[in-house]
Amino acid sequence: MKDFQYQALPMRVTFGAGSLKSLPEEVRGLGLKRVLVLSTPFQEDLARQVSDQLGELSAGVHAEAEMHVPIESAHRAREVAKAAGADGYVAVGGGSTTGLGKAIALEFGAPIIAVPTTYAGSEMTPIWGLTAEGEKKTGRDPKVLPSSVIYDPELTLSLPVGMSVTSGFNAIAHAVEALYAPDGSPIISLMAEEGTRALINALPTIVKDPADAEARSDALYGAWLCGATLGATTMSLHHKLCHTLGGTFNLPHAETHTVVLPYALAYNAAHAPEAVAALQRATGAQDPAAYLRQLSLDLGAPSSLRELGLTDADVETVVELATRNPYANPRPVTAEGIRALVTAALNGDPV
Ligand code: NAD
Repeated sequence: MKDFQYQALPMRVTFGAGSLKSLPEEVRGLGLKRVLVLSTPFQEDLARQVSDQLGELSAGVHAEAEMHVPIESAHRAREVAKAAGADGYVAVGGGSTTGLGKAIALEFGAPIIAVPTTYAGSEMTPIWGLTAEGEKKTGRDPKVLPSSVIYDPELTLSLPVGMSVTSGFNAIAHAVEALYAPDGSPIISLMAEEGTRALINALPTIVKDPADAEARSDALYGAWLCGATLGATTMSLHHKLCHTLGGTFNLPHAETHTVVLPYALAYNAAHAPEAVAALQRATGAQDPAAYLRQLSLDLGAPSSLRELGLTDADVETVVELATRNPYANPRPVTAEGIRALVTAALNGDPV
């Protein structure tokens, strides 16, 4: 056994179909009296139902969450929270909504209760993100880690099939990079392997039948585990590339993760034998990178970065940004290596 350090993050998780009904209890359990319910405009109806369920514990609904938390949207939400006298936030939705809750908590420090409806995993991390003048900044702060998370698979039944697949791959990407993270540990590797297994088994069933309750439950269970590995470790090349592609070229978050993951894993594989062994067990495949690529295509995910809006002219900028600051990665990050990786992902070449 290699040496390791492991710092457990406090996590209170309630998991199960219908578990949303425990929300008022969770709010009271945290000693909160007036929580502001957050959502995107698209999920406002759900947020209103949640607010109604909370009754006098609700300080109202703020349904203005946006992708990547623009700083103006954070300012607005903080004003609304202050005016409503909120002493906590309930984030109902995906990573964008949880991100808005984190932006408020970063300023005011009050607890967040997250009710995730995608597989992005933000609810398990102390990582915040804010976008100002076209640049997305992220940081870690324990006060943005949700105090309580309610995973209710029934809320994911409405997640469109395409988003379910790409969001699932977004989760698997956390697990893959946690398996070779510089600060990984045996317990995180167990979670990463199990989370990957749960998702790759559940996603094909969800594509066939998005209403399959068991597959939805398994996928959300996998997303929890993968999110926890993201919160506990430092990510490497894959996340660095996706951050650049999303932040600088505005490529869609989950789809970009889905396309890049097999190429990033193939780049690192020979330098991360234990991670590959764990992924071989999870996938049952000899070459996990090729397996993930084929699975994403079989499940109808986008197949190239070109399809997502990247062009040949952008490649050098990605190479420059991805190699500008050093970071831990199993295989040395070279301009030549990244150019080959990004070009292959741009064209959707075989992995
Ligand atoms: P999202 O939150 O942007 O959601 C996309 C759209 O899908 C929204 O309109 C949303 O309302 C809708 N939606 C969500 N759940 C739905 C459901 N069950 N049914 C129908 N529609 C639903 O997407 P995301 O991929 O969850 O989050 C992406 C964002 O989260 C990015 O900004 C990313 O950087 C961030 N993120 C942060 C962390 C972190 O640790 N800080 C981790 C992962 C992702």
